[in-house]
Amino acid sequence: MCGIIAYSGKSPAAEKLYRGLKRLEYRGYDSAGISTLSEGCIFTAKHGGRVERLRADLGALSGCTGIGHTRWATHGRATDANAHPHLCGRFSIVHNGIIRNCEQLKKELKGLGRTFFSQTDSEVIAHLLDMYYCGDMLQAMLHAVARLKGLWAVAALCADFNGFIVARRSSPVVLGEGDDGFYAASDVHAIVGCAHSCCVLEDGDIAVVTPEGMRVYDSLLNPVVRAFEPVPAECAGGDMEGCPHYMLKEIRQNAAAITDTCDGFFRCEGADGLFKKLARADKIVLTGCGTAYNASLAGARLLGWAYDCPVSAHIAGEYCSDPPRLTTRSVCIAVTQSGETADTLAAASIARGCGAYLIAVTNCPRSAVTRLADFVVPVCAGPEVCVAATKSYIGQLACFHLLAAGECAMRRAGQLQSVAAKVKKLAFDGAYARVIASLCASSRAVFFLGRGGDVDVAVEGSLKLKEVSYIFSAGYPAGELKHGTLALVDESVLSIVLMCDQCLVSKCESAVEQILSRGGKVAVITTLPSAYASVSPRVQAAWLLPQTCAHLSHFISSTALQLVAYHTALLVGRDPDKPRNLAKSVTVE
Ligand code: GLU
Repeated sequence: MCGIIAYSGKSPAAEKLYRGLKRLEYRGYDSAGISTLSEGCIFTAKHGGRVERLRADLGALSGCTGIGHTRWATHGRATDANAHPHLCGRFSIVHNGIIRNCEQLKKELKGLGRTFFSQTDSEVIAHLLDMYYCGDMLQAMLHAVARLKGLWAVAALCADFNGFIVARRSSPVVLGEGDDGFYAASDVHAIVGCAHSCCVLEDGDIAVVTPEGMRVYDSLLNPVVRAFEPVPAECAGGDMEGCPHYMLKEIRQNAAAITDTCDGFFRCEGADGLFKKLARADKIVLTGCGTAYNASLAGARLLGWAYDCPVSAHIAGEYCSDPPRLTTRSVCIAVTQSGETADTLAAASIARGCGAYLIAVTNCPRSAVTRLADFVVPVCAGPEVCVAATKSYIGQLACFHLLAAGECAMRRAGQLQSVAAKVKKLAFDGAYARVIASLCASSRAVFFLGRGGDVDVAVEGSLKLKEVSYIFSAGYPAGELKHGTLALVDESVLSIVLMCDQCLVSKCESAVEQILSRGGKVAVITTLPSAYASVSPRVQAAWLLPQTCAHLSHFISSTALQLVAYHTALLVGRDPDKPRNLAKSVTVE
């Protein structure tokens, strides 16, 4: 994962790199570091912990060229020593990715008398550059990356060269041009407000960047031209708009995610052709990771009702071990907030390899998945800064409704508009979420239960709570309770039962009774006044949400569960925006 940034230009680099790292911090925050270059000397500061810790070092980092890193550890703990940049000889490097053959390379390099100062895989890159360097940095990089197996975006400084070099394979890199210099970064967020135009490096590219300009080479060192386009203004994450955390701000943007996604969909050219593809498909598969997978579960349900072919959702990380059989008539829908999720890209590539038509559902219009896809359905949720996905999930649900509605998408958009108004009211007035949050905060474990479409909401509600509060939780069908999990229920366990489908209420009420009879705590969340009236006298908490029809209720119940997770995080003293061990853009498999 990690975020890398590099700058070479007329202005002091350290401040620029620091600012860029702050914007990349959602990609990982185990440690951070910066190297700058001034008159043939490399200056480095790095620490375990967040980017903020670098602030005190900026004054000591002189020079108008430099590289920076914010880490999500894959090899080695989050210590100062494992923080990037890694230094060797005249080189300093930052790396995003995984070097799969690092153990063999370390063995070989140690055999040559080299000493390693970190447990990271990345340090081998600094050694390889140093080993292959004979005065030509480009050649050294070419030889070094030829030895690597895995994924990388690497930026390197050499004390002899006034500039930096960047190379990539599978991990993303954008180049940017600003009025006072040139940039490379893991994504465009890092350079918004600094660069006016940017381009995406392709796999195998190596770029050499100096204060005077940039040159890009392909993997055979042929000079190549990559198309620059304006840096989009909307990439900026914006401020917190008076909210104490991005998570709350972004939950409050759920309604806009629904309406903007509908608007974005109708601006897409070729939607009619897309509906025909779906209608003629012999199979539709959806794939994603984490929250995007949970959205895919709901998507598979909606598309399964709408289209006359088998529809299934697949965890992207498992896709390659058991790929569904697809044909040239099949459709694969790859769902990824960032558009860079490595597991999802791998699954999408397998589906493409079978000849399937690939639809990307993503919140990032210039991302890797959009370059791979035949058709992009944009999630127009706006930049999502909180690591736990909220509004992007809601936007993904809106996309699935529109895809499922086909020719009737316009009518469905009208229904989505009215549900968005209810979501908005709820997000700004979620006082009851605190009541349920206090039950969560005092529980050893929380189970989320539902039936039908509520199961998908339960699974995502559980993930949200885990991510931001670290309280153990699981989401599953209420009917499964008696087949095993009931053994875990006692007075220290809370079960949150969703009841948003009138046809399934009585079955959910049975689950509630089974839990209460074992001394378990129950909170019911429902859009149905009759269900509320029936269960509220018997349970610890009951929350009556705005009413809506069952197939649209997931927008409302998911928003409610996001608020519960947010308030629980606060009650147990967690930072909801940056949960430990996690990062937003998961670009490693
Ligand atoms: N593998 C490197 C490390 O653990 C980089 C991690 C990443 O890109 O996520 O330091």
